[in-house]
Amino acid sequence: MNIILMGLPGAGKGTQAEKITEHFGMIHVSTGDMFRQAMSAKTELGKTAQNYIDQGHLVPDEVTNGIVKERLGQEDVKAKGFMLDGYPRTLNQAEALDQIVAQLNTNIDQVINIKVDPEILVNRLSGRFICRKCGATYHRVYNPPKVADTCDICGSHDFYQRDDDRPEVVRNRLKVNIEENTPLIAYYEKQGKLTNVDGSQAIDVVSQQIQEILKKV
Ligand code: ADP
Ligand code: AMP
Repeated sequence: MNIILMGLPGAGKGTQAEKITEHFGMIHVSTGDMFRQAMSAKTELGKTAQNYIDQGHLVPDEVTNGIVKERLGQEDVKAKGFMLDGYPRTLNQAEALDQIVAQLNTNIDQVINIKVDPEILVNRLSGRFICRKCGATYHRVYNPPKVADTCDICGSHDFYQRDDDRPEVVRNRLKVNIEENTPLIAYYEKQGKLTNVDGSQAIDVVSQQIQEILKKV
């Protein structure tokens, strides 16, 4: 099963992707995670991405389309399907993705759009923290680990906050993403693939609703 998870930064894509991939077995492909890994490894890709991400801009389409094409062509994704998180973010990327899946002889089964009022998102992003070891995402107020300072998944005590979750960058990120998001939604609505989910509900309620949608695919 091949799925796209859409939603503005902070809508809950990473949080939900973890639960859904665990349940349905497809591979979680997050362009944001791929850029962050490249930045911490200081590769050429990482250096290119850093300049854009630090300012809350999108990384250029040709760079982003290239890494997605490479990832979706790998054996694990071909065997198990994918859940894309944070891609596509522009119409150009959506068109590139259609070509990539056609070349791979597959297709996109469903697009889930997690909708949350942007007012709520600033608050979510400023409280977000992430396990450095396994990448699990938490929130200081809405989704703290069960045992304080201990990752529920891997037991690590080492967490970090993303540089681009600083309030001064967050506002620009949201603005850029809102502008790009609207035509994308229309693109997938026209293809009859889009389902909206109210992402302002509790995390488990959102997961339940996404699972119900995917069971019908
Ligand atoms: P995205 O991947 O879409 O940027 P995340 O999954 O990282 O978003 O979620 C952003 C922040 O909001 C995290 O701190 C997460 O714990 C929290 N969060 C996610 N879903 C919800 C929800 N339904 N209600 C409250 N907080 C949430
Ligand atoms: P995310 O983790 O999805 O919030 O992504 C973090 C940052 O990486 C974004 O603010 C962008 O700068 C960059 N990025 C991630 N995915 C894309 C994409 N599909 N297109 C362009 N830039 C992206």
